[in-house]
Amino acid sequence: LDIEYLVSACLCGEHCRYDGKSNIQKSVAQLVSQGRALAVCPELFGGLPTPRPPCEIFQGKVYDVHNQEQTAAFLKGAQRTLDIAKKLGIKKAILKEKSPSCGVHFIYDGSFSASVIPGQGLTARLLSQHGVTLLSENDL
Ligand code: SF4
Repeated sequence: LDIEYLVSACLCGEHCRYDGKSNIQKSVAQLVSQGRALAVCPELFGGLPTPRPPCEIFQGKVYDVHNQEQTAAFLKGAQRTLDIAKKLGIKKAILKEKSPSCGVHFIYDGSFSASVIPGQGLTARLLSQHGVTLLSENDL
């Protein structure tokens, strides 16, 4: 059976969020246990630790809450995620909404005030540019 989806690892119950928590969605975790999906965490691929300071996108660059730029790590994670999709021929992804890596339709606005704006995380954007169809957990 081919793997159909890349999925955000935090949606599968992995504690890889910035705060060390997960966002488990049973239906997504089930796809992984059935062998139909592969869990990925672009921020860990980028070399970031868990827990880590929260990050948001501002004018196309990623900053953590201490105003340190983190764009390079996010781009590295996005590229590694794309490489996996290409290598395995995966054309669909289910990603965690609002994340600066994984957000599909919405992201935070960069002010760290819980304000959400339309936009995509860096991994979501790169996958989409290469023809991967994106869903968020809210689209399921
Ligand atoms: Fe989840 Fe994506 Fe953030 Fe990793 S980078 S914790 S998979 S939302």
